[in-house]
Amino acid sequence: MNWVGRDKVSIWHPFTPLEGVDEPLHVTKAEGVYLHTENGQKIIDAVSSWWVNLHGHSNPAIAEAISKQASSLEHVIFAGFTHQPAIELAEGLLEVLPKNQSKIFYSDNGSTAVEVALKMSFQYWFNKDQEKRKIIAIDGAYHGDTFGSMSVGERSDFTKPFVKQLFDVDFIDFPTQHNESDVLRQFEEYLNSNDIAAFIYEPIIQGASGMRIYNHKLLDKLITLAQNHGVICIADEVMTGFGRTGKLFASDHLETEPDIVCLSKGLTGGAIALGATSCSAQIIKEFQSKDLKKAFLHGHSYTANPMACAAGIASLKLLLDCECQQNIQRITKKHVEFIDSIKTKEIVKEVRSLGTILALEFKTDEDSSYFSEMRNTLYPFFIERNVLLRPLGNLIYIIPPYIITNDELEVIYSAITEFLKLSPS
Ligand SMILES: *Cc1c(COP(=O)(O)O)cnc(C)c1O
Repeated sequence: MNWVGRDKVSIWHPFTPLEGVDEPLHVTKAEGVYLHTENGQKIIDAVSSWWVNLHGHSNPAIAEAISKQASSLEHVIFAGFTHQPAIELAEGLLEVLPKNQSKIFYSDNGSTAVEVALKMSFQYWFNKDQEKRKIIAIDGAYHGDTFGSMSVGERSDFTKPFVKQLFDVDFIDFPTQHNESDVLRQFEEYLNSNDIAAFIYEPIIQGASGMRIYNHKLLDKLITLAQNHGVICIADEVMTGFGRTGKLFASDHLETEPDIVCLSKGLTGGAIALGATSCSAQIIKEFQSKDLKKAFLHGHSYTANPMACAAGIASLKLLLDCECQQNIQRITKKHVEFIDSIKTKEIVKEVRSLGTILALEFKTDEDSSYFSEMRNTLYPFFIERNVLLRPLGNLIYIIPPYIITNDELEVIYSAITEFLKLSPS
């Protein structure tokens, strides 16, 4: 049996029905922006392999950092022990995160970074001897797939089988140009219940709900209101972190500072799973005690894995390099130019960009959800043209590795333009 046949027997893939779907492509190698498949196809990874890859696949600097680390200290228990990669990465992150962030708590991925943030928030109030039972989140939010992170996310077909097990969350409407005063009123009403532990948000752009951008000034107002009520503000920067929105963090577009920041995805440049949750001194203060019952009794076996931390240090160094910063500005500009060239096309409902992220929504008659039939046309159309674009229903987005060249961007843009031309107008 070939590899794909053996895959079918033994593997269960994420977000994928077990029947009735195309066979997965067998990737044998990945280098730069390209995924090489067994049948000789060379595909541009326009979505950075689920938004994680920053500096290209098999990046030599990151590979070397991992390899060196693997042969000296591959892993060690992180309670009672520490190591240089974890310390260096924490210091590096604190240097670039919003100024008020004071410590880093490591975990394994984006969902766990969010779980840690939520548990930290609830225990912050517990340690203060105050009961706060609820979280405020934004409609359409996606914060991960574990129970806590699912609870603070949008209720949808994804969460339906589990909805009774999710804890109750106060959702405000997704802010638009037309509802800002309503959103503020809703938010204040929730705050006035005096039962709110934290407010969690994807700063200025929601990822999984369709790269939806909202007003940063309104978010500043929400954060200010929340903090005036003593409510902890959690910036979920799992997608937006590390330059995606044109600044190092999406929170850098704001005047306020979050109390907690969740990081993962780009944290290791996309090479190894790692999560990090940073928090301000105000949070730390409530945990500063010799009492074990006040300690944060949470941890994962692979917390602060040295190889992952080494990859993180190497990736951060590449990110802060002048060349990478210029690439981010270059991609940002190219996206804006491309938008100008296609925005009036009949089939385009809306096309928008924020930094290196570009999203294009198609007009469609049917329900414009993730389950929209349109994805069944879009995905293979682009794969046939050697471009990996994974649609969210009737929407496609580009979130490329920063090393992508203008020519490679043009290949993606042309494939999209070709689709627009073929579509009935
Ligand atoms: C992807 C994502 C998560 C979950 O991260 P995983 O590593 O997939 O668990 C959480 N929050 C946001 C904003 C994300 O985009």
